[in-house]
Amino acid sequence: MTLDPMTERLYYTDSYKRDFSARVVERSADGLTVYLDRTLFYPSSGGQPFDAGSIAGVAVVDVVDEEERIAHRLAAPLAAEGEVSAEIDWARRFDHMQQHSGQHLLSAVFEELFGLHTVSFHLGAESATIDLEGGPVESRTVVEAERRANQLVSENRALDVRFEDARAAQGLRKASEREGTLRIVSIEGLDRSACGGTHVRSTGEIGPILLRRTEKIRQSVRVEFVCGGRAVRRARADFEALSKIAQMFSAPLDDVAPMVAAQLETAKAGDRARRKLELDLAAFHGKELYATTGPGPDGMRRAVQRLERGNLEDLRAVAQNFTAQGKGVFVATLKDPPSVLLATSADSGVDAGKVLKAALTGAGGRGGGNARIAQGSVPDAGLLDALVASLG
Ligand SMILES: [Zn+2]
Repeated sequence: MTLDPMTERLYYTDSYKRDFSARVVERSADGLTVYLDRTLFYPSSGGQPFDAGSIAGVAVVDVVDEEERIAHRLAAPLAAEGEVSAEIDWARRFDHMQQHSGQHLLSAVFEELFGLHTVSFHLGAESATIDLEGGPVESRTVVEAERRANQLVSENRALDVRFEDARAAQGLRKASEREGTLRIVSIEGLDRSACGGTHVRSTGEIGPILLRRTEKIRQSVRVEFVCGGRAVRRARADFEALSKIAQMFSAPLDDVAPMVAAQLETAKAGDRARRKLELDLAAFHGKELYATTGPGPDGMRRAVQRLERGNLEDLRAVAQNFTAQGKGVFVATLKDPPSVLLATSADSGVDAGKVLKAALTGAGGRGGGNARIAQGSVPDAGLLDALVASLG
């Protein structure tokens, strides 16, 4: 057992320090988990992900808050003992600082302007979200909050961290359940929140704040946002995606939405016209097939169409136009998947549904329809010829 129960959290008092030295106080048997007497590594907590970096040159792949102590999980066993030097991945850390301070600012703005309470915060790899409760979040709410948040960024208000006794701490945005000493992060003249996270020292460092998607989740509304470097990268990606579409239309960026809408309308009208032509063509085929099919001794015209692949649905209109001429029986088969279509004229004396159903049952297939047209499937394409013969 270790004699050093607590890990001193150096990031509590200085979120800008990037490297440090510390003493290894304990190591797991496999050397992949180490405990230090003090650390700059932030453990995943309060919605903020852990810090990456290295200890004695070995990559840190996870940092876990075990309340009293902080466990550092490594990519390879640590051989070093005693005093080690370590550094955190500053780009990752500063990004987290921008998003987390941005979250405090946004939460305060939603509270101040609309009485919306932040009930949770999540910082993901691409974007962050807050869940709001206390009312609807309309698009103008989002626009207004974004405007106000960016105004507070440009005012470059100070952010600071203070330790206060929980019983004496006043004016917190959200009451803390913790006892003893609270770590309070304040934004000058705007917000006081109990928080263990790492923060920038003034709102200017948060950089631009963009609000994006909102999504209703049970009784709350999830608002997605990006701050600082992420906002710039996101705006760049949006611009590039939109530019590609604008190029296709040879149009200015701002005209893209109405042009896409107009194009969709044109495509729909084209679809309608195509469907009408398909029906006209099927009618023509059905009539032509009827004209070129000689009647049998009983005066009935029988046509059989065999398809290798495709869709029997495509032949329904042909079948109906064939049988509409009177005294006609139309059969179509499809090899893959093995299926059959039967259509009969009203004056043929053949009930298509009943006849096909009986034939299918004999062949182990299934299907049905009405007296004039019916369709079904069989388990094997080898059964189709016998089935056609049985349909007369
Ligand atoms: Zn926080």
